[in-house]
Amino acid sequence: MTNDPFSTDERRALAALTADFTAKEIAPNLNEWEDAELIPREVHKALGDAGLLGIGYPEEVGGSGGDSIDVTVLTENLLSSGGSGGAFASLFSHGIAIPHMIDAANRRRVAGDNAGADWLLDEYVRPVLAGDKIAALGVTEPDGGSDVAHLRTRAIPDGDDWIINGAKTYITSGVRADVVVVAARTADSGASGVSLFAVDTSLPGFKVTRKLQKMGWDCSDTAELAFVDLRVPSEALLTPEPGGGFASLSRHFAVERLSLATLAYATAQRCVDLTVEWTRQRETFGRPLLSRQVVRHDLVEMIRRTEVARTYARAIAVRHAAGEPVLLEAVLAKNTAVEACDWVVDRAVQLHGGAGYMRNTEVERHYRDARIIGIGGGATEVMTDLAAKLLGW
Ligand SMILES: Cc1cc2nc3c(=O)[nH]c(=O)nc-3n(C[C@H](O)[C@H](O)[C@H](O)COP(=O)(O)OP(=O)(O)OC[C@H]3O[C@@H](n4cnc5c(N)ncnc54)[C@H](O)[C@@H]3O)c2cc1C
Repeated sequence: MTNDPFSTDERRALAALTADFTAKEIAPNLNEWEDAELIPREVHKALGDAGLLGIGYPEEVGGSGGDSIDVTVLTENLLSSGGSGGAFASLFSHGIAIPHMIDAANRRRVAGDNAGADWLLDEYVRPVLAGDKIAALGVTEPDGGSDVAHLRTRAIPDGDDWIINGAKTYITSGVRADVVVVAARTADSGASGVSLFAVDTSLPGFKVTRKLQKMGWDCSDTAELAFVDLRVPSEALLTPEPGGGFASLSRHFAVERLSLATLAYATAQRCVDLTVEWTRQRETFGRPLLSRQVVRHDLVEMIRRTEVARTYARAIAVRHAAGEPVLLEAVLAKNTAVEACDWVVDRAVQLHGGAGYMRNTEVERHYRDARIIGIGGGATEVMTDLAAKLLGW
């Protein structure tokens, strides 16, 4: 018996299922997907069939149930079994998109609009959680991503429809997405003029203008998008008018940041494990690297930083699962884990020597993949500034 919420029977089974899936279906194919800069759709389907895409979503909307502790267990095990940040970002891009649709469906139910709620759930949420469709979130624009309140994509009402014009960039899964939750301006009033729309990518006027090439997360397709007189029906508007989009984004950003914190320390932990093993086997000057005090101290420091990041982020996941608002804590967890991860991946490459610099050696991939975590989902400086605001300063 254990009181550790991360080690209940159910969560141990989830850990084993994730580890097994990752070891069999993801890890052996990663290099091929990195070269192709794309993950095949069938992998989403297989993950959906295994119930893993639905972790953290209620069964009523097609999910597998669970909360942020379960999502943490899933992320940790995906990384510890040979997965990657890019694979996580791509396969779980719906994590930043469909919560806005589920909220909208819930609001419609309360307002008696069952048809509107069912449309969102049946058309997008359930197929995405089953792995039949792919969802993305489109907030960042070529003019800027940090300053969400001043985005420029515009939606104008036209009869019962909305007409959207504008552009987005750096959109994860944007090349393959069937639906993109798009942030667009419906009024000129800064943050309070931002709304969210479920945009079906089959509609005329939706264009993938470029598939972007990156430093890391290679297997995760990243798109530049354009909307040219894109007409969407009124049911596509997800947030209360006027401009409820910013509040919805801010609320769910907390979960995204917590999930990126988990990704960061899980990446660091994998690099610790790989480097301990490497230094045990690699001999220089007639002795294993691990026999050198300076190497052992390096490894202990890698472990210390990773443990601190994990312990804090896990504690915040527990508080989030208990229903506490953790806006500030998610920011602190992300910055802490990013700092730990950046340091650990660097030391991992260093201790692997030339092998650590070779393309698609696992630590080399983690080194490149890790760099985005301090930029995406809110850059570290922007997170620090937000923390000060949340502290009332
Ligand atoms: C691989 C990848 C995947 C992504 N996926 C998505 C996605 O799916 N959906 C989506 O909408 N976006 C996505 N993004 C965009 C990401 O969220 C933005 O890149 C991020 O928010 C930063 O915005 P920016 O790139 O426009 O940088 P800018 O806003 O131009 O900022 C540049 C840098 O300036 C610094 N900075 C900014 N503001 C301040 C300030 N006030 N004080 C001090 N320093 C500051 C930070 O260091 C920041 O990194 C992705 C980005 C990448 C690279």
